[in-house]
Amino acid sequence: MKKVIIIGGGIAGLSAGCYCQMNGFESEIYEMHDMPGGLCTGWRRKNFTFDGCLHWLVGTSPSNPMYRMWEELGVVKGKKFFDYDYFIKVIDKEGNVFFTYTNPDRFKEQMLEYSKEDRKFICSVIKDIKWFMKMKIPIDYGFFTLFKMIPMFYRFWKYSMPVSEFAGKFKNKKLGELVNLAFDWHDMSAVFLIWTLAYMGSRDAQYVMGGSIELAKSIEQRYLSLGGKIHYKSEVIKILVKNNKASGIKLNDGTEIQGDIIISAADGYSTIYEWLGGLYTDKKLDKKYKTLEPFPPLLYISIGVEGNYRKEPYSVTFPLDKPVLIANKEVEYISLANKSFDPSLSANNTTAFHLSIPTDYDYWAELYKDKTTYLQEKERIANEIIEGITKLYPDFKSQVREVDVATPVTFKRYTGNYRGSYEGWLLTKKSMTVQMPKTLRGLSDFYMAGHWTAPGGGLPTAASTARQAVKLLCRHNKIKFSTTTV
Ligand SMILES: Cc1cc2nc3c(=O)[nH]c(=O)nc-3n(C[C@H](O)[C@H](O)[C@H](O)COP(=O)(O)OP(=O)(O)OC[C@H]3O[C@@H](n4cnc5c(N)ncnc54)[C@H](O)[C@@H]3O)c2cc1C
Repeated sequence: MKKVIIIGGGIAGLSAGCYCQMNGFESEIYEMHDMPGGLCTGWRRKNFTFDGCLHWLVGTSPSNPMYRMWEELGVVKGKKFFDYDYFIKVIDKEGNVFFTYTNPDRFKEQMLEYSKEDRKFICSVIKDIKWFMKMKIPIDYGFFTLFKMIPMFYRFWKYSMPVSEFAGKFKNKKLGELVNLAFDWHDMSAVFLIWTLAYMGSRDAQYVMGGSIELAKSIEQRYLSLGGKIHYKSEVIKILVKNNKASGIKLNDGTEIQGDIIISAADGYSTIYEWLGGLYTDKKLDKKYKTLEPFPPLLYISIGVEGNYRKEPYSVTFPLDKPVLIANKEVEYISLANKSFDPSLSANNTTAFHLSIPTDYDYWAELYKDKTTYLQEKERIANEIIEGITKLYPDFKSQVREVDVATPVTFKRYTGNYRGSYEGWLLTKKSMTVQMPKTLRGLSDFYMAGHWTAPGGGLPTAASTARQAVKLLCRHNKIKFSTTTV
């Protein structure tokens, strides 16, 4: 039986482990942290559980082919799901309110209330949202399934422009502004948002009750039950190579572990340029790593309050009375996520709120060199943000019990992701057609998985790239790839 060493116990690493075990390999995961999940995580602060990831999971409806993958990984069995009526509620500076309803007819009605003159454009967008609602991307595809996906590629191209450009297509400037505020997501390609909205509408992208930790633990349990082994607190610093064949790993305590096959399900940049010393790359791959844009790092603020916010929006964007200066940039609008719909995160009379604010990695890396200033800056920003939230909820400040601020440096330290990115490569017009390799030229018995191996990132990408990597590994070892479900 061949031994597979997997670097990283995030969703990709755990999934790769499950598929290796299902296909008769003996696998072991080496994870630098003391728990599973990587970015798909959460943490306790006194009475609060702060969730660090999950908003929605694509593939929660049994009619979606991805559901089968989540069944294979033990994610969906026995779980309850939460449906989103809207993606986000937006309030602008003049007090206009706009909901991005996941029911396309309701969304259409609301857009028409703002602009009759855009009727033709609105109807065409809604028609495409309805088309996306029916679209099911297979997890296993060949030439003929790709052929069937041509109408999908056409719509991908149609909405490939950045959200700001898409919003600019509305004749009514106010509606354009509201759409831009609602989908203000690092100028991602508009298709990502239209597709997400459609998937939420068709119950294909729901929230999994229990949150990120529960999700990660489900895959960890599945892996262990399949006979896999996980070594926590084991940081890999080098991938060992003999005669251009991956042969093992070296840990930061100097231990060397030999294996027949290595899968890196950790940061792509570290894997290629640090642990393999940049010896197995080529001009094409270098160009991708130099020119593709990663998801920006976040300032992730978690606030635990004593108070019941179950009737308040689970996601709202609104303007601050006084902009907050973050990494030399004035932040005027903030988006507040309220997790009180999940009782496992907001027990009794408490609520956990989260804010994800895109920020600058270099600024925080520089500040981190002086811990006192770094901590003071985190505190100042959190205080000003809390002050700003009182505009929406007047009692908020007096109800605050716990505050936690994670910077891009925190993301880098805890997960190793390149420049603190939280989801790999941004899905843009440029990256949409880019394929990232799962193997490296000139290096045998080596595979890569995870959100750095397919633009767009996210949990489905992490798991499906792991599935693809193990499928490839099976093909190279003349094994028929097979899976089981729970
Ligand atoms: C705030 C936030 C919200 C998000 N919301 C969603 C959402 O709603 N839906 C969605 O689908 N996605 C969401 N994502 C994105 C999603 O979490 C990631 O894309 C996904 O978890 C990536 O998984 P991965 O296994 O590829 O990478 P990672 O999670 O980065 O896992 C890599 C693992 O490798 C380990 N590692 C790194 N270096 C080493 C080393 N040297 N030695 C040993 N181990 C190492 C890390 O500790 C980590 O456990 C969100 C992310 C964030 C941060």
